[in-house]
Amino acid sequence: MAKDNFGPDTPYSYCPVDATPLEKSGGSPTGMKCPECGRSWYRNSSPSTGCAIVEDGKVLVTVRAGEPEKGRVDVPGGFLEAGEHPADALVREVDEELGVGIGEVIGPLIMAVHNYGENGPFVLALGFAARMIEGEPEPADDVAEFRWVGVDELDELDFAWSHDRELVEIALRIEEDGACQA
Ligand SMILES: [Zn+2]
Repeated sequence: MAKDNFGPDTPYSYCPVDATPLEKSGGSPTGMKCPECGRSWYRNSSPSTGCAIVEDGKVLVTVRAGEPEKGRVDVPGGFLEAGEHPADALVREVDEELGVGIGEVIGPLIMAVHNYGENGPFVLALGFAARMIEGEPEPADDVAEFRWVGVDELDELDFAWSHDRELVEIALRIEEDGACQA
């Protein structure tokens, strides 16, 4: 990819509708307005969902098949489509990546903002816990492989993003508390 100066908070230059050069607008550092059609264009974080699937005191973590952060550990999930509810996005992404259905979704348990790759777009990550209710996991799409891990294995995992480690820890604590009450 060519090097350029388009960072995650660089304002847009041209209107996506009619390609007219945009003008600065309002108080937002990225706010731009089109003098032709009157639309406003902002840069925002892209919302994403992820989940820690818990079972028998373990959590399913995934290894990323593609860039950014290829080969590093994260959790199943992905970006929301336009207009999509986060819970629907989570169910869709887990089905695409592992071929399983999830239920008993709780959260968000964490919210984090991070870059998607070096100088990449900002992501608003929403992390949930869930249970597998249907199917056998098979890695597909942008998942290279998966592992079930317990709390004693977390230190050795190379998480791409620290909020996923935090999510897994919280999900395991909830699982443990649930087990104590049973
Ligand atoms: Zn326009």
